[in-house]
Amino acid sequence: MVQLETFDYNELIKHRGTKKCGFHEIGLKPDGSMMKIPYVIVVGEEEGPTLLMDGGIHGDEVEGAEAIANVYNELDPKKFKGVYIGIPHLNLEGFNIGKRVASSIDYTAADMNRVFPGDDVSGKISTTIIAKYVKLFVEYADYWVTFHSGGNTLYLEPIACYTNTKLDTVFGSLTYDMARCFMTPYLWRCNPGASKEGSTATMRGLSEVKKIAYICLEMGGNVMFMKDRERIYKMCHDGIKNLLNYLKMTDGPVPEFRTDTIDVDVDYLHITHGGIYHPTKYIFDRVKKGEVLGYVTDIFGNKIDERTAPYDGIVVGTWTPPVIQPREWCCLFGKFQDEE
Ligand SMILES: [Zn+2]
Repeated sequence: MVQLETFDYNELIKHRGTKKCGFHEIGLKPDGSMMKIPYVIVVGEEEGPTLLMDGGIHGDEVEGAEAIANVYNELDPKKFKGVYIGIPHLNLEGFNIGKRVASSIDYTAADMNRVFPGDDVSGKISTTIIAKYVKLFVEYADYWVTFHSGGNTLYLEPIACYTNTKLDTVFGSLTYDMARCFMTPYLWRCNPGASKEGSTATMRGLSEVKKIAYICLEMGGNVMFMKDRERIYKMCHDGIKNLLNYLKMTDGPVPEFRTDTIDVDVDYLHITHGGIYHPTKYIFDRVKKGEVLGYVTDIFGNKIDERTAPYDGIVVGTWTPPVIQPREWCCLFGKFQDEE
């Protein structure tokens, strides 16, 4: 029988002043390689809270994952308070093939960020991985940060999502400050538990049930030149460092938060028809209700569809490859929050 390596939080935190990286193993694949969840953990010399971070739940989103690993390498457990847990690539199979979902391993091709809290009794592999992530890692978190990006198809100007401070008086203000540690140009005010993308089975919904202070970051996308990619990677890296100082897990100054952030609620707007997509409005463009955000042409050059702004707002992200499929997200559109 094959012996599996496992992640055991309660065992690992007995060893104060240490750090470790490894894998929680799930099972062998037909080619003999192991399906697994990678992790890094820093157990500080001093007791303190547990910060959990994950990246790459969508396999084509990498900047946050790199930052999680690199900050781990920089941290000195002897000068650290609490526990830093990072999952560099939660969807390791998707990462391996550079795709959002690991369709090669799962008949249902589940989007792993739509199957929370997972199911390791009757679920297939993607939902099983999430169940294990929740039971072995999320259960212990006091603070939770998840990194996304636009992946292969979208570009999102960096935006940090926090919980509406008026609707969540326990965690709202805390998550607002956690989000501001990342110095993103946009901030996204989310309502507790709400999901804008057609499902409540997300991390945000679970964080509310589990009473964990949770933020989500959407950072760029793969359309960027490498120079811009480095800028966004640095924003992830420096943001984690700022957050550790803010939470007093490391000793260091918390920089002044930006005062020029644009506070929005974001809608993912769909297009009806597929074809070649032509965005006409770009990041930071302020758009009036009814103005055209982008249009679609068919293979004969005819204009067959257009997407207009549903309200006065601002472009936060856009579809980036030429070819778009029916019902895809074509524009990520922000409604100003300070004007309500
Ligand atoms: Zn994502």
